[in-house]
This record gives sequence, structure tokens and C-alpha cells, in this order.
Amino acid sequence: MIDDLHGTTIRIGAIDWTVSIEDMLSNDDLGQMRSGEQSLAVKRNIAPQEKIEVLLHECIHATLRQGGIYKVLGDNLEEGVVEAVAYGLVGLFRDNPDLMRSLIDRVVETTKH
Ligand SMILES: [Zn+2]
Repeated sequence: MIDDLHGTTIRIGAIDWTVSIEDMLSNDDLGQMRSGEQSLAVKRNIAPQEKIEVLLHECIHATLRQGGIYKVLGDNLEEGVVEAVAYGLVGLFRDNPDLMRSLIDRVVETTKH
């Protein structure tokens, strides 16, 4: 599944994050955004769909972190927002793959390099 993303980079705004698929994470977490290391960690031995959701979840944390929104939301509200958006996006991608590919293509096409 997404284990092959280990070591790859995800650019989110100003920061390039390294994906780290790991056997164990501290606090028995399924995923972690490690801002000091610029890494997004995902636990290896979880169900495939959940693993995708966890990676998106950590990407959303990273997005909120650099936007400073986390300061307004507080940890509990941020976690709830991130969880809802991540699960929602996984469903959106799964149920509308052609639309998502089309939108991605259009964003890339209209990006000036
Ligand atoms: Zn979280």
C-alpha cells in the first residue's frame, strides 16, 4: 500500500516533509507529525485504508501547523477537525477518483514554474 512512500517527500507549503513508515510510534500513536524533524510518521501494521487516512491526517496537521490555526483551535478541537477532514477526504478521493484526478491535473497545469 503506502509503505512504498517511506522516505519520500511531501511538500506542504513552505516545508518538505519526509514520510516515515515505522513499526512502533511513541504513545501507541498511529501517526505523528514531527515538526522538529520535518517528518510525518505512520505506523506500519495498521489496516491499509486506515494507513492512508493517517497519512492524510498528519498532512492536515502540518497544513494547520504552518498556518498557525492550531493556536486558535487548541489541541482537542484541532484533533477533531483534522480527524473529520482526513476521513472526509479519503471518502471523497475513493468515491470520486476521476474528479480528483481532473482537479489535480488542472492545479498542476495552472501552476507556474
Ligand atoms: Zn492528529
